[in-house]
Amino acid sequence: MILTDTHTHLYSEQFTADRAAVIERSIKAGVTRFFIPAIDSEYTQSMLDLEDAYPENVFLMMGLHPTHVKDNVEEELTLVKEWLDKRKFYAVGEIGMDLYWDRTFVKEQQYAFQTQIQWAKEKNLPINIHCRDAFEEVFEILEKEKSTALFGIFHCFTGTLEQAKKAISYGMKLGIGGVVTFKNGKIDQFLKEIPLSEIVLETDAPYLAPTPFRGKRNESSYLTHVAQKLAVIYDLSWEEIAKITTENSKAVFGV
Ligand SMILES: [Zn+2]
Repeated sequence: MILTDTHTHLYSEQFTADRAAVIERSIKAGVTRFFIPAIDSEYTQSMLDLEDAYPENVFLMMGLHPTHVKDNVEEELTLVKEWLDKRKFYAVGEIGMDLYWDRTFVKEQQYAFQTQIQWAKEKNLPINIHCRDAFEEVFEILEKEKSTALFGIFHCFTGTLEQAKKAISYGMKLGIGGVVTFKNGKIDQFLKEIPLSEIVLETDAPYLAPTPFRGKRNESSYLTHVAQKLAVIYDLSWEEIAKITTENSKAVFGV
């Protein structure tokens, strides 16, 4: 039984004190595949170190996170492109739009998102989308870029059933994490109407810990709680959930 965490920031400072123990706990729990989204160039070295330490388990993405799109967007994008040209990454991410914190760089966010989508398409890589308070803006760009070469994951999906169907129509699978276990998380109400073939699991560790750890630091081993919740929603065993969602992750990332 293998669970795949399709979005985990294991290189985060929040794991500095006990990273090895966190990873060991995850592997013991059956969560053995970690897909690692990038944020900006400040974290690149720690991502590479993580891959060096766990080459069997760690799969890196490369990209510029929307909340880190600032005045230096051109420099950061140049670095992203250099890395994508230089070596293997498994996705372009996380990329997208975040208008929750700040709208100052909305134009730059749109530009960075669209540019990175185009690089993913050129390289036949999936994208990993971050979308917060920006469904309209994200869909606008996906509409412009839609093609058979566009595919990936809508990370931490928290929208409506209609938005879920729309995301899937652009070649995205839905990344489902801790929010599905929350009392007011809403997506558990309609998820059964989405075929399990469109779902992958993620923690977004260290953020968004599932119930009963809500509000605490999240870690990849807690993915079992997400899988158990999906087992209830889809009326399947959680081993079946693990198997199917891991297969789905392989279809996206090619590994
Ligand atoms: Zn993330």
